[in-house]
Amino acid sequence: MPTRTSNKRGQLNSRETHRRQALEDTESPLHEAFLDEVADIYNAEQQLIKALPRMAKAAQSEELRDAFEAHLGETEQQAQRIKEAIDSLGESLKRKKCKGMEGLIDEGKEMMEEYKGDPAIDAVLIAAAQKIEHYEIASYGTICTWAEQMGHSQALRLFKENLGEEKAADEKLTGIAETFANVEAQEQQ
Ligand code: FE
Ligand code: ZN
Ligand code: FE
Repeated sequence: MPTRTSNKRGQLNSRETHRRQALEDTESPLHEAFLDEVADIYNAEQQLIKALPRMAKAAQSEELRDAFEAHLGETEQQAQRIKEAIDSLGESLKRKKCKGMEGLIDEGKEMMEEYKGDPAIDAVLIAAAQKIEHYEIASYGTICTWAEQMGHSQALRLFKENLGEEKAADEKLTGIAETFANVEAQEQQ
């Protein structure tokens, strides 16, 4: 059962009163689900912070390596924003293992090993990275919708920033993938 901070008589403690003043609805049935989703994406970001340096190292082109390194920096900031968003609600971050991200990273690792030294390695890395970005986009999309519905405006602003970075990272990877296609087409002419 979700924990409520108001007692049975509906009296509010001071923290709750403060939230009410901010027009936030922490008693929404979505609030607990929201905290679970946030815990999931926080853990996903932590897993990615560990995986991105390996992906950067495996990349053959400088452009892709730079893109992974730049996204590592963003990912570290995203984790900080998640903490800030949770703080803004007077909540604490739950511990959760993101099995989705674990699976995506595992699959990427397998492909990285299989394509080691292969000219397709960068294309394979981009494929894995874009699946990861899309997972994150889905999570932040849901989290933003729920934050908006509950009036968690400060949290919403922070999660929107993360969502924007994930979308930009995904588009950047598409751009790099298209460059490879062009180079190969030119080589074949
Ligand atoms: Fe991220
Ligand atoms: Zn997850
Ligand atoms: Fe990302």
